[in-house]
Amino acid sequence: MKRHISTFKKNFLANKRLRWKVSLGLFLLVYTIQSIASKCPDAVEIHYSRTIYPYIIQTLSLFNRLFFFSLAELVVALTATLITIVIARDIVWISKGRVSYKEFLSCRLLNLSELLATSFLIFLLIWGLNYARRPLSDNLALKKRQMSEKQLEQLCRFLIDQVNRNYCQPPTEFDSKKMADIYHKIELSYQQNPELIPLSKVEYGQPKPIISSHIFTLLGISGIYSPFTGEPNFNREQPASELPFSIAHEKAHQRGFALEDEANFIAFLVCIKSSDAYIRYCGYLMAMRHILATFYLIDPEKYKEVVKLIEIGPKEDLRESTAFWNQHHSQLTELSEAINNSYLKANRVKSGIDNYDEVVQLLISYYANTFPNNF
Ligand SMILES: [Zn+2]
Repeated sequence: MKRHISTFKKNFLANKRLRWKVSLGLFLLVYTIQSIASKCPDAVEIHYSRTIYPYIIQTLSLFNRLFFFSLAELVVALTATLITIVIARDIVWISKGRVSYKEFLSCRLLNLSELLATSFLIFLLIWGLNYARRPLSDNLALKKRQMSEKQLEQLCRFLIDQVNRNYCQPPTEFDSKKMADIYHKIELSYQQNPELIPLSKVEYGQPKPIISSHIFTLLGISGIYSPFTGEPNFNREQPASELPFSIAHEKAHQRGFALEDEANFIAFLVCIKSSDAYIRYCGYLMAMRHILATFYLIDPEKYKEVVKLIEIGPKEDLRESTAFWNQHHSQLTELSEAINNSYLKANRVKSGIDNYDEVVQLLISYYANTFPNNF
Protein backbone atom coordinates (compact mmCIF):
# COMPACT_ATOMS: atom_id res chain seq x y z
CA MET A 1 0.00 0.00 0.00
CA LYS A 2 2.81 2.41 0.97
CA ARG A 3 4.59 1.76 -2.31
CA HIS A 4 1.39 2.65 -4.18
CA ILE A 5 0.98 5.87 -2.25
CA SER A 6 4.55 7.01 -2.82
CA THR A 7 4.28 6.21 -6.55
CA PHE A 8 1.03 8.10 -6.68
CA LYS A 9 2.62 11.14 -4.95
CA LYS A 10 5.66 11.08 -7.19
CA ASN A 11 3.71 10.86 -10.43
CA PHE A 12 1.14 13.37 -9.34
CA LEU A 13 3.60 16.01 -8.15
CA ALA A 14 5.81 15.58 -11.21
CA ASN A 15 3.00 16.21 -13.67
CA LYS A 16 0.77 18.49 -11.59
CA ARG A 17 1.70 21.78 -13.16
CA LEU A 18 1.53 20.47 -16.72
CA ARG A 19 -1.83 18.77 -16.10
CA TRP A 20 -3.34 21.97 -14.69
CA LYS A 21 -2.09 23.85 -17.76
CA VAL A 22 -3.59 21.26 -20.14
CA SER A 23 -6.86 21.28 -18.21
CA LEU A 24 -7.17 25.08 -18.21
CA GLY A 25 -6.12 25.08 -21.87
CA LEU A 26 -9.04 22.78 -22.66
CA PHE A 27 -11.46 25.11 -20.88
CA LEU A 28 -10.06 28.00 -22.90
CA LEU A 29 -10.42 25.97 -26.10
CA VAL A 30 -14.09 25.22 -25.29
CA TYR A 31 -14.73 28.91 -24.62
CA THR A 32 -12.98 29.95 -27.85
CA ILE A 33 -14.85 27.44 -30.03
CA GLN A 34 -18.16 28.46 -28.41
CA SER A 35 -17.41 32.19 -28.92
CA ILE A 36 -16.48 31.74 -32.58
CA ALA A 37 -19.48 29.45 -33.24
CA SER A 38 -21.93 31.91 -31.64
CA LYS A 39 -20.84 34.53 -34.20
CA CYS A 40 -21.28 32.25 -37.24
CA PRO A 41 -24.77 30.64 -37.04
CA ASP A 42 -24.91 30.05 -40.81
CA ALA A 43 -21.56 28.26 -40.89
CA VAL A 44 -22.56 26.13 -37.87
CA GLU A 45 -25.89 25.30 -39.53
CA ILE A 46 -24.37 24.26 -42.86
CA HIS A 47 -21.03 22.71 -41.87
CA TYR A 48 -21.87 21.27 -38.46
CA SER A 49 -25.61 20.73 -37.84
CA ARG A 50 -26.40 19.54 -41.38
CA THR A 51 -23.07 17.98 -42.38
CA ILE A 52 -21.02 16.67 -39.46
CA TYR A 53 -23.72 16.14 -36.82
CA PRO A 54 -25.79 13.59 -38.83
CA TYR A 55 -22.71 11.32 -38.96
CA ILE A 56 -22.22 11.70 -35.21
CA ILE A 57 -25.81 10.82 -34.35
CA GLN A 58 -25.87 7.99 -36.89
CA THR A 59 -22.79 6.43 -35.27
CA LEU A 60 -24.18 6.84 -31.74
CA SER A 61 -27.57 5.46 -32.85
CA LEU A 62 -25.96 2.36 -34.40
CA PHE A 63 -24.43 1.62 -31.03
CA ASN A 64 -27.26 2.62 -28.64
CA ARG A 65 -29.82 0.60 -30.65
CA LEU A 66 -28.04 -2.56 -29.44
CA PHE A 67 -29.32 -1.89 -25.91
CA PHE A 68 -32.95 -1.79 -24.81
CA PHE A 69 -32.08 0.17 -21.66
CA SER A 70 -30.63 3.65 -21.32
CA LEU A 71 -26.85 3.56 -21.68
CA ALA A 72 -26.69 7.07 -20.26
CA GLU A 73 -28.37 5.88 -17.06
CA LEU A 74 -25.89 3.00 -16.80
CA VAL A 75 -22.92 5.35 -17.29
CA VAL A 76 -24.25 7.76 -14.62
CA ALA A 77 -24.79 4.87 -12.17
CA LEU A 78 -21.29 3.45 -12.79
CA THR A 79 -19.69 6.91 -12.48
CA ALA A 80 -21.53 7.59 -9.20
CA THR A 81 -20.39 4.20 -7.85
CA LEU A 82 -16.79 4.82 -8.90
CA ILE A 83 -16.76 8.29 -7.32
CA THR A 84 -18.19 6.86 -4.07
CA ILE A 85 -15.49 4.15 -3.97
CA VAL A 86 -12.73 6.70 -4.64
CA ILE A 87 -14.03 9.06 -1.93
CA ALA A 88 -14.31 6.16 0.57
CA ARG A 89 -10.74 5.08 -0.22
CA ASP A 90 -9.52 8.69 0.13
CA ILE A 91 -11.13 8.95 3.57
CA VAL A 92 -9.45 5.70 4.71
CA TRP A 93 -6.04 6.84 3.47
CA ILE A 94 -6.38 10.27 5.06
CA SER A 95 -7.62 8.82 8.36
CA LYS A 96 -4.59 6.50 8.46
CA GLY A 97 -2.33 9.52 7.93
CA ARG A 98 -0.67 8.03 4.85
CA VAL A 99 -1.38 11.08 2.74
CA SER A 100 -2.23 14.59 3.87
CA TYR A 101 -5.70 16.01 3.39
CA LYS A 102 -4.20 18.90 1.41
CA GLU A 103 -2.48 16.58 -1.08
CA PHE A 104 -5.66 14.62 -1.75
CA LEU A 105 -7.76 17.73 -2.11
CA SER A 106 -5.31 19.15 -4.61
CA CYS A 107 -5.27 15.84 -6.51
CA ARG A 108 -9.05 15.48 -6.65
CA LEU A 109 -9.52 19.11 -7.71
CA LEU A 110 -7.18 18.46 -10.59
CA ASN A 111 -9.03 15.23 -11.48
CA LEU A 112 -12.35 17.10 -11.40
CA SER A 113 -10.98 19.89 -13.56
CA GLU A 114 -9.63 17.38 -16.11
CA LEU A 115 -12.88 15.44 -16.18
CA LEU A 116 -14.99 18.58 -16.66
CA ALA A 117 -12.71 20.12 -19.29
CA THR A 118 -12.62 16.89 -21.33
CA SER A 119 -16.39 16.36 -20.97
CA PHE A 120 -17.17 19.96 -22.02
CA LEU A 121 -14.98 19.63 -25.10
CA ILE A 122 -16.53 16.30 -26.15
CA PHE A 123 -20.02 17.65 -25.38
CA LEU A 124 -19.42 20.71 -27.54
CA LEU A 125 -18.03 18.74 -30.47
CA ILE A 126 -20.63 15.96 -30.52
CA TRP A 127 -23.77 18.04 -29.85
CA GLY A 128 -23.31 21.35 -27.99
CA LEU A 129 -22.40 23.30 -31.14
CA ASN A 130 -26.05 22.95 -32.15
CA TYR A 131 -26.82 25.72 -29.64
CA ALA A 132 -25.10 28.10 -32.06
CA ARG A 133 -26.93 27.02 -35.22
CA ARG A 134 -29.26 29.27 -37.24
CA PRO A 135 -32.61 30.00 -35.51
CA LEU A 136 -35.35 27.52 -36.44
CA SER A 137 -37.66 30.41 -37.42
CA ASP A 138 -35.14 31.35 -40.16
CA ASN A 139 -34.95 27.74 -41.39
CA LEU A 140 -38.74 27.56 -41.56
CA ALA A 141 -39.04 31.12 -42.98
CA LEU A 142 -41.31 31.88 -40.04
CA LYS A 143 -41.60 35.65 -39.84
CA LYS A 144 -41.78 36.93 -36.27
CA ARG A 145 -45.36 38.11 -35.70
CA GLN A 146 -47.36 39.49 -32.79
CA MET A 147 -51.08 39.17 -32.06
CA SER A 148 -53.61 41.62 -30.73
CA GLU A 149 -55.61 40.69 -27.64
CA LYS A 150 -58.55 39.71 -29.83
CA GLN A 151 -56.38 37.52 -32.08
CA LEU A 152 -54.84 35.84 -29.05
CA GLU A 153 -58.30 35.10 -27.69
CA GLN A 154 -59.22 33.55 -31.04
CA LEU A 155 -56.09 31.42 -30.92
CA CYS A 156 -57.02 30.26 -27.39
CA ARG A 157 -60.49 29.28 -28.60
CA PHE A 158 -59.03 27.50 -31.63
CA LEU A 159 -56.56 25.48 -29.55
CA ILE A 160 -59.22 24.58 -26.98
CA ASP A 161 -61.40 23.35 -29.83
CA GLN A 162 -58.54 21.20 -31.18
CA VAL A 163 -57.85 19.82 -27.70
CA ASN A 164 -61.54 18.92 -27.23
CA ARG A 165 -61.83 17.37 -30.72
CA ASN A 166 -58.67 15.24 -30.42
CA TYR A 167 -59.23 14.18 -26.84
CA CYS A 168 -59.04 10.49 -26.16
CA GLN A 169 -58.46 9.02 -22.76
CA PRO A 170 -54.69 8.56 -22.25
CA PRO A 171 -53.53 5.10 -21.08
CA THR A 172 -53.85 4.66 -17.32
CA GLU A 173 -50.57 2.79 -16.90
CA PHE A 174 -47.23 2.52 -18.66
CA ASP A 175 -47.35 -0.27 -21.24
CA SER A 176 -44.10 -1.06 -23.09
CA LYS A 177 -45.91 -2.47 -26.15
CA LYS A 178 -48.17 0.56 -26.50
CA MET A 179 -45.17 2.83 -26.00
CA ALA A 180 -43.30 1.09 -28.85
CA ASP A 181 -46.26 2.02 -31.06
CA ILE A 182 -46.10 5.64 -29.83
CA TYR A 183 -42.33 5.81 -30.55
CA HIS A 184 -42.97 4.46 -34.04
CA LYS A 185 -45.78 6.94 -34.77
CA ILE A 186 -43.77 9.91 -33.53
CA GLU A 187 -40.78 8.87 -35.65
CA LEU A 188 -43.11 8.41 -38.62
CA SER A 189 -44.49 11.89 -38.13
CA TYR A 190 -40.95 13.28 -38.08
CA GLN A 191 -40.13 11.47 -41.32
CA GLN A 192 -43.36 12.45 -43.07
CA ASN A 193 -42.79 16.16 -42.48
CA PRO A 194 -39.31 16.77 -43.83
CA GLU A 195 -40.42 20.18 -45.08
CA LEU A 196 -40.84 21.26 -41.46
CA ILE A 197 -37.44 20.25 -40.27
CA PRO A 198 -34.59 19.70 -42.72
CA LEU A 199 -33.31 16.22 -41.94
CA SER A 200 -30.86 13.78 -43.33
CA LYS A 201 -31.76 10.12 -43.65
CA VAL A 202 -30.49 8.98 -40.30
CA GLU A 203 -31.82 5.93 -38.48
CA TYR A 204 -32.28 7.28 -35.01
CA GLY A 205 -32.02 5.25 -31.80
CA GLN A 206 -35.22 4.59 -29.84
CA PRO A 207 -36.45 6.76 -26.96
CA LYS A 208 -35.78 4.98 -23.68
CA PRO A 209 -37.65 5.12 -20.37
CA ILE A 210 -35.44 5.76 -17.35
CA ILE A 211 -35.40 2.95 -14.76
CA SER A 212 -34.87 5.47 -11.95
CA SER A 213 -37.78 7.59 -13.19
CA HIS A 214 -38.86 8.41 -9.65
CA ILE A 215 -35.64 10.38 -9.12
CA PHE A 216 -36.54 12.34 -12.27
CA THR A 217 -40.01 12.98 -10.85
CA LEU A 218 -38.47 14.37 -7.65
CA LEU A 219 -36.17 16.54 -9.77
CA GLY A 220 -39.15 17.78 -11.82
CA ILE A 221 -37.68 16.39 -15.06
CA SER A 222 -39.92 14.83 -17.72
CA GLY A 223 -37.12 13.87 -20.09
CA ILE A 224 -33.47 14.36 -20.85
CA TYR A 225 -31.39 13.98 -23.97
CA SER A 226 -28.00 12.35 -23.50
CA PRO A 227 -25.59 13.80 -26.11
CA PHE A 228 -22.84 11.35 -25.15
CA THR A 229 -24.93 8.31 -26.04
CA GLY A 230 -27.36 9.93 -28.50
CA GLU A 231 -30.37 8.70 -26.51
CA PRO A 232 -33.66 10.50 -25.88
CA ASN A 233 -34.53 9.43 -22.31
CA PHE A 234 -37.84 10.08 -20.63
CA ASN A 235 -39.48 9.84 -17.23
CA ARG A 236 -42.02 7.01 -17.43
CA GLU A 237 -43.86 8.26 -14.32
CA GLN A 238 -45.05 11.55 -15.81
CA PRO A 239 -48.76 11.95 -16.60
CA ALA A 240 -49.79 10.07 -19.76
CA SER A 241 -51.16 13.29 -21.28
CA GLU A 242 -47.57 14.62 -21.40
CA LEU A 243 -45.65 11.51 -22.47
CA PRO A 244 -45.81 11.68 -26.31
CA PHE A 245 -44.95 15.37 -26.25
CA SER A 246 -41.95 14.77 -23.94
CA ILE A 247 -40.70 11.99 -26.21
CA ALA A 248 -41.11 14.16 -29.33
CA HIS A 249 -39.25 16.98 -27.51
CA GLU A 250 -36.26 14.77 -26.66
CA LYS A 251 -36.26 13.44 -30.22
CA ALA A 252 -35.95 17.04 -31.47
CA HIS A 253 -32.78 17.37 -29.36
CA GLN A 254 -31.58 14.09 -30.87
CA ARG A 255 -31.98 15.65 -34.32
CA GLY A 256 -29.69 18.49 -33.29
CA PHE A 257 -32.19 21.13 -32.16
CA ALA A 258 -30.65 22.16 -28.87
CA LEU A 259 -32.76 25.16 -27.82
CA GLU A 260 -35.71 24.32 -25.57
CA ASP A 261 -38.26 26.58 -27.27
CA GLU A 262 -37.32 25.10 -30.66
CA ALA A 263 -37.49 21.52 -29.34
CA ASN A 264 -40.91 22.34 -27.87
CA PHE A 265 -42.12 23.84 -31.14
CA ILE A 266 -40.85 20.96 -33.26
CA ALA A 267 -42.46 18.49 -30.84
CA PHE A 268 -45.72 20.42 -31.17
CA LEU A 269 -45.63 20.30 -35.00
CA VAL A 270 -44.73 16.63 -35.05
CA CYS A 271 -47.45 15.74 -32.53
CA ILE A 272 -50.28 17.66 -34.22
CA LYS A 273 -49.38 16.17 -37.60
CA SER A 274 -49.44 12.62 -36.28
CA SER A 275 -51.98 10.09 -37.55
CA ASP A 276 -52.71 9.16 -33.93
CA ALA A 277 -55.35 11.22 -32.06
CA TYR A 278 -53.71 10.69 -28.66
CA ILE A 279 -50.39 12.11 -29.94
CA ARG A 280 -52.19 15.04 -31.65
CA TYR A 281 -54.13 15.70 -28.44
CA CYS A 282 -50.91 15.88 -26.38
CA GLY A 283 -49.40 18.35 -28.89
CA TYR A 284 -52.43 20.65 -28.82
CA LEU A 285 -52.65 20.36 -25.03
CA MET A 286 -49.12 21.70 -24.64
CA ALA A 287 -49.75 24.59 -27.06
CA MET A 288 -53.06 25.43 -25.38
CA ARG A 289 -51.43 25.57 -21.93
CA HIS A 290 -48.74 27.99 -23.10
CA ILE A 291 -51.07 30.25 -25.05
CA LEU A 292 -53.65 30.30 -22.25
CA ALA A 293 -50.95 31.22 -19.72
CA THR A 294 -49.96 34.16 -21.95
CA PHE A 295 -53.58 35.22 -22.40
CA TYR A 296 -54.13 35.10 -18.63
CA LEU A 297 -51.44 37.76 -18.15
CA ILE A 298 -53.17 40.03 -20.69
CA ASP A 299 -56.82 39.61 -19.68
CA PRO A 300 -57.51 37.48 -16.56
CA GLU A 301 -61.28 38.09 -16.75
CA LYS A 302 -61.64 36.99 -20.34
CA TYR A 303 -59.33 34.06 -19.57
CA LYS A 304 -61.82 32.73 -16.99
CA GLU A 305 -64.53 32.86 -19.62
CA VAL A 306 -62.43 31.10 -22.28
CA VAL A 307 -61.15 28.23 -20.09
CA LYS A 308 -64.77 27.21 -19.46
CA LEU A 309 -64.74 25.88 -23.03
CA ILE A 310 -62.28 23.12 -22.09
CA GLU A 311 -64.26 19.91 -21.79
CA ILE A 312 -64.23 17.60 -18.80
CA GLY A 313 -61.67 15.04 -20.14
CA PRO A 314 -58.86 17.50 -20.97
CA LYS A 315 -59.72 19.49 -17.82
CA GLU A 316 -59.14 16.34 -15.76
CA ASP A 317 -55.79 15.74 -17.51
CA LEU A 318 -54.70 19.32 -16.75
CA ARG A 319 -55.71 18.92 -13.12
CA GLU A 320 -53.90 15.58 -12.85
CA SER A 321 -50.75 16.98 -14.43
CA THR A 322 -50.62 20.02 -12.10
CA ALA A 323 -51.33 17.83 -9.07
CA PHE A 324 -48.60 15.34 -10.07
CA TRP A 325 -45.81 17.90 -10.38
CA ASN A 326 -46.96 19.92 -7.34
CA GLN A 327 -47.10 16.79 -5.20
CA HIS A 328 -43.46 16.02 -5.93
CA HIS A 329 -42.18 19.59 -5.86
CA SER A 330 -39.42 20.06 -3.31
CA GLN A 331 -36.11 21.83 -2.73
CA LEU A 332 -34.58 19.10 -4.89
CA THR A 333 -36.78 20.28 -7.78
CA GLU A 334 -35.60 23.85 -7.24
CA LEU A 335 -31.97 22.72 -7.17
CA SER A 336 -32.49 20.81 -10.43
CA GLU A 337 -34.08 23.91 -12.03
CA ALA A 338 -31.17 26.08 -10.85
CA ILE A 339 -28.68 23.61 -12.38
CA ASN A 340 -30.64 23.51 -15.66
CA ASN A 341 -30.76 27.32 -15.66
CA SER A 342 -26.96 27.54 -15.23
CA TYR A 343 -26.42 24.84 -17.86
CA LEU A 344 -28.50 26.72 -20.44
CA LYS A 345 -26.81 30.05 -19.64
CA ALA A 346 -23.38 28.38 -19.94
CA ASN A 347 -24.50 27.39 -23.45
CA ARG A 348 -25.29 31.06 -24.18
CA VAL A 349 -29.07 30.71 -23.88
CA LYS A 350 -29.65 34.15 -22.33
CA SER A 351 -33.10 33.43 -20.93
CA GLY A 352 -31.93 30.24 -19.18
CA ILE A 353 -34.80 28.08 -17.98
CA ASP A 354 -37.37 30.57 -19.35
CA ASN A 355 -36.31 29.38 -22.80
CA TYR A 356 -38.89 26.56 -22.52
CA ASP A 357 -41.74 29.12 -22.38
CA GLU A 358 -40.37 31.11 -25.31
CA VAL A 359 -42.14 28.56 -27.51
CA VAL A 360 -45.10 30.99 -27.21
CA GLN A 361 -43.47 33.36 -29.72
CA LEU A 362 -42.93 30.50 -32.18
CA LEU A 363 -46.52 29.32 -31.77
CA ILE A 364 -47.92 32.82 -32.33
CA SER A 365 -45.71 33.36 -35.38
CA TYR A 366 -46.69 29.95 -36.74
CA TYR A 367 -50.45 30.55 -36.50
CA ALA A 368 -50.21 34.19 -37.64
CA ASN A 369 -48.16 33.19 -40.71
CA THR A 370 -49.95 29.94 -41.55
CA PHE A 371 -53.55 31.15 -41.06
CA PRO A 372 -53.34 34.95 -41.65
CA ASN A 373 -57.10 35.19 -42.24
CA ASN A 374 -58.01 33.47 -38.97
CA PHE A 375 -55.66 35.17 -36.55
ZN1 LIG B 1 -35.25 19.86 -23.74
